[in-house]
Amino acid sequence: MLKYIVLIINILAFSTKGDCQSKFDRGDDSWKEIYRSASQKDHDLVHTKLSVKFDYSKSYLYGHAWITLKPHFYSTDSLRLDSKGMDIKKVALWKNGKTTDLSYSYKDSLNLRIKLDRTYKGGEMYTVFIDYTSKPNEFKAEGSTAITDAKGLYFINPKGEEKDKPTQIWTQGETEASSAWFPTIDRPNQKTTQEIAMTVPGRYVTLSNGRMVNQKKNADGTRTDVWKMDLPNAPYLFFMAVGDFAIVKDTYKGKEVSYYVEKPFENVARKIFGLTPEMMAFYSSKLGIEYPWPKYSQIVGREYVSGAMENTSATLHSEYLQQNARQLVDGNKYEDYISHELFHQWFGDMVTAESWSNITVNESFANYSEVLWDEFKYGKDAGDQRNYKDMQAYFISGGGGKDLVRFHYRDKEDVFDAVSYNKGGRILNMLRNYVGDDAFYKSLNVYLAANKFKSVEAHHLRLAFEEVTGKDLNWFWNQWYFGSGHPHLEITYGYNEDAKKTTIIVSQTQTGDKIFKLPVAIDLYNTGKKTRYNVWVENKTDTFSFASSTKPEFVNFDGDKVLLAEKKENKTLYDYINQYKYAKTYVDRREAINYAVKHKDLPEARDFLLSQALKDPYYELRERVLKNLKDTDLDSESIRTIENIAGKDVKRVNRASAIDILGTLKNPAYTNFFIAGTKDSSYSVAGSSLLALAAIDKVKAISLLPVLKKDAKGNLEKAVEQVSALIKGEVDVKRSSGSMLKLP
Ligand SMILES: [Zn+2]
Repeated sequence: MLKYIVLIINILAFSTKGDCQSKFDRGDDSWKEIYRSASQKDHDLVHTKLSVKFDYSKSYLYGHAWITLKPHFYSTDSLRLDSKGMDIKKVALWKNGKTTDLSYSYKDSLNLRIKLDRTYKGGEMYTVFIDYTSKPNEFKAEGSTAITDAKGLYFINPKGEEKDKPTQIWTQGETEASSAWFPTIDRPNQKTTQEIAMTVPGRYVTLSNGRMVNQKKNADGTRTDVWKMDLPNAPYLFFMAVGDFAIVKDTYKGKEVSYYVEKPFENVARKIFGLTPEMMAFYSSKLGIEYPWPKYSQIVGREYVSGAMENTSATLHSEYLQQNARQLVDGNKYEDYISHELFHQWFGDMVTAESWSNITVNESFANYSEVLWDEFKYGKDAGDQRNYKDMQAYFISGGGGKDLVRFHYRDKEDVFDAVSYNKGGRILNMLRNYVGDDAFYKSLNVYLAANKFKSVEAHHLRLAFEEVTGKDLNWFWNQWYFGSGHPHLEITYGYNEDAKKTTIIVSQTQTGDKIFKLPVAIDLYNTGKKTRYNVWVENKTDTFSFASSTKPEFVNFDGDKVLLAEKKENKTLYDYINQYKYAKTYVDRREAINYAVKHKDLPEARDFLLSQALKDPYYELRERVLKNLKDTDLDSESIRTIENIAGKDVKRVNRASAIDILGTLKNPAYTNFFIAGTKDSSYSVAGSSLLALAAIDKVKAISLLPVLKKDAKGNLEKAVEQVSALIKGEVDVKRSSGSMLKLP
C-alpha cells in the first residue's frame, strides 16, 4: 500500500491520524508490553466463493459466501471467522449443494463463532455457507474499536445526488478490513483462491481479482459478472470495483494489462499507465520470475483513502493519477505509484508478510522497486535521486527509534511508515551494494521461488541471501531488521606530509550504546585516478590510514554513496568542487551543489554553480541550481546558458525555472519569447512565462488572461491568479515557485 498522505502527515506532525482502531490512548504506553505475533493458524482458508449484490440506496452489500477451509493441523469442531459489523442471516454446512444449519454466536459483531457438525481432522476440507448483509457505513463495534476509518467497502455518491461526482464502489482490504464485506480469516498469513459473482446495474463495469469468466444479463436490467482467481492470495488483497469506467487495454506476453479510468481521461490513460507492460517485462526479467497473475489491471477510485493499493492483479489508485494531457507534459507525477504497486504483485501478493510486524518484507521492496525502475528507465542518477530523497524523508520522519521488524506497536496501521518503507528500501540498497547485483537478484529469485504463494517473515529473506552468497548475514539482519536507528558519522580527513599518509577518522556519534558495523568503500583520487579501499567501520572510532606519496586531490568516504547514515565531514568548498569533478554519483554532485549553494556569497562557489553545476547532465541538479540563482549576479555567459535552458531543456519544469530567472532580469528583449511561452502546452512553462511577461509588460500579460484562464492548472493557475490581482491593483507580482516538481 502507498500511504503517501499519511506518510506526509507523519513527517510534518508526527502523526495527527486518529487511532480509530486502537484501544490505546495517546500517552498510554502499555502497548509496548504486547508482543504482536503472527496469527495462530487453527484453520487454513482454501477457497472463497462469493455472490454479492449492492443496495445503493442504503449502501449495503447482500452477500452469500461459501468458505472452504481445513483445520491447519490439529482436529477441531469449531471455527472462528472475522465478520465485521454484518447482519448474519444463516450459517450452514454446505455439502453436495445442500445446507445443514450450524449454530453460531456473533455477540461482538466482529467474530463469527461457528459450532461445526462434528470434529474435523487436520487437512480435512469442508465448506460453510453464510447468508449476510454488509453495512459498512453503520457499523460501530463495542468499546473503542470502530471501523469508521476502515470500512472495507466504500460507496461513492451512491444515490447520485452529488453533481460532477461519479457513482462508484471500491474496496480497501489492508490491513484487516476485507472482513467488513465478506466473512473470512482476515489475517495476512492466510491464502485462498476465489470466485466472486457481482450483480450490478447494467450500465456499470466491474473489476476484481483474476479473470472475468462469465457475464450474464439479468431480466431486471442488472448484470452478473463472475471473476475467478485460481491462484491463492491473502484476504486483504481481495478487491471489487463497480462504476462507469473507460477500460483501455494493453497486453504483456498475452496477458491483459488494463487501465480503468473515468471516461474524460480515456484518451490520456495510456500516457498515465502506458509504461506498465515495460515495467512488467523489466521486473520479470530482473527477478527471473514471470509476472505471476492472470492479468494486471489498474483502476482509479474517487475519494480513495490512501495513495494506492496492490490488490492482487487489480491495483487501486487515488484519483490524483488522473492528470490531463498538459499536466503530463510536465511529467507523470505518479509513475512511482505505478512501479511500487506493480512490484507488490511479487513482494506482498505472491509472497506475503505473515504479520503486520513483518510488513517491511512487502513495503521495503515496493519502495525500493521505484529506485530500480527509475534507474533502469531514466539512468543511475534518477535511481540515486529517489534513493537519496527517500533516505532524507526517513531521517526527518522521526522514526529512528523504531525497529524495522516491529513486534511492538500501538496499532497495526502504525507500521505503514517511513521506517517500514523508506528505511527498509535503503537497507535493501546497502544489501545490494554489499553482495553485488548478480547475487542480489539471484537471492530475490531464490526467496520468491521458495516462498511462492506462501507467507514469510524477514528470516526467509536472510536465508535466501545466505543460500546464494554463502555468507552468514545474521549480523546484518540483527543490526538492520531486528534493531532500530542508524549511524551518525563524524568523518575527519587528514594528510601527513612527513609520513606520506592519508588518514580518515570515523566516529559514530549516535546516542545510545549501539555501534554499527558498516562495510565502506573509501576512494582516494591522485591525479584523477581512483584507488578504492574496502574497510569495515565497526567501532566507536575507527582510523584508516593509506600511503599516498602526494596529498590526494580528493578522498571519498562511502564511494558508492549507499550508506544509510547522517554524516558530518570537515570538507571545504575546494573538496566539494573536486568531489563534483571526480566522484560523479548523483549524491556526490548533489552534496557539492548543496554546499556551494549555502556558500554562494563566495565567488568560487558562485563560479562553480554557474560554470559547472548549471550544465550538469542530470536535469534535477540543473533545476536545483536554477532554484538557487535568484538574487545572484549573472554574467553574460551564464545568462546565455539560462536562455538555452529556458528554450531547449528536455524537461519543461527546468525551462520554467530558467524563465523565472530571466523574468527577474526585466529585459524587454524577452517579451516575444515570454508571450510564446504562455502558449506552451506545459502549465509550468506557461505560468512562468506569464509572470515573467507581467514583470516587463503588465498590460500585455493582462490582455492574455481571458484565453489562459480557460485551461489553467498548477503553475499556470497560480500565475493567472497573481496577474488577475494586478488588474485590481491589489498586489504586486510575486515570483511563483516556478516548479511542479516535488523537491524534497
Ligand atoms: Zn506499498
